[in-house]
Amino acid sequence: MESTVLELDGLSKAYGAIQALDDVSFAVRENEVLALMGDNGAGKSTLIKILSGVNDPTRGMFYVNGQEANFGSYEDAEAAGIATVYQDLAIAPNRTVKENVFLGKEPLVEGKLGEWLRIVDDDEMERQADKVLNELGMEIDPNADCGDLSGGQQQSVAIARAIESDPDIVIMDEPTSALSVEAADRILNLIERLKEQGRTVLLVDHNLEEVFEVADRAAVLASGRLVGVEDIDRLDQESMIQMMMGSEL
Ligand code: ATP
Repeated sequence: MESTVLELDGLSKAYGAIQALDDVSFAVRENEVLALMGDNGAGKSTLIKILSGVNDPTRGMFYVNGQEANFGSYEDAEAAGIATVYQDLAIAPNRTVKENVFLGKEPLVEGKLGEWLRIVDDDEMERQADKVLNELGMEIDPNADCGDLSGGQQQSVAIARAIESDPDIVIMDEPTSALSVEAADRILNLIERLKEQGRTVLLVDHNLEEVFEVADRAAVLASGRLVGVEDIDRLDQESMIQMMMGSEL
């Protein structure tokens, strides 16, 4: 039987007069890749920020593994099993891969670089970074400077940073948007790897081909409201676009 890892119940968020998210309820299944779809301004980032502890909802609740979530920070979300890879990777180019994996995360959320390392012992940091990189099948030298890495490798390091806390749920905001086709393919493989590890992935991706390749289901938002959650096999590009414009399937 499928179990629910994350349940959203009537989540709403208003910024003044703007209703960015309006009464959104759906359940995310354990170990699925769920694409979070919607045009610009549909409310995807707003939802991600709520789920990752960065913003509070104006109304509504959500539950992680059946527990009511009441996050005050990114760290709270991480402790409950949710880690997020933001579009702004906030990779420190002058630091090594292993240091970037262990940079303090809270400042990263604001798009600023973490000033501090959560592990200071160099050997310990290397051991842990090696472990995470190996688990993900990444062939990246933990002692390389991040500034020397390609965009795809930097994206991989940002994912490794998220995985380091061993989250049940990984949220990714447009992880392939700045990448070449080859580099994007490697990130899609990584997403499949996360699924093999038993994790659940919430993926924001504007590239429909990628979504059809990697997602199990899609939750579609339009103007802050949930249009529907559908199995990817029931959708094609045309019906997905119709849903993103607000029409139910
Ligand atoms: P995109 O794909 O362009 O990132 P999105 O689906 O992530 O879009 P959101 O960024 O969540 O959409 O925005 C939803 C609505 O809320 C938009 O109308 C946006 O202008 C508004 N909004 C988002 N953040 C704020 C804010 N901090 N203050 C005021 N309005 C905001």
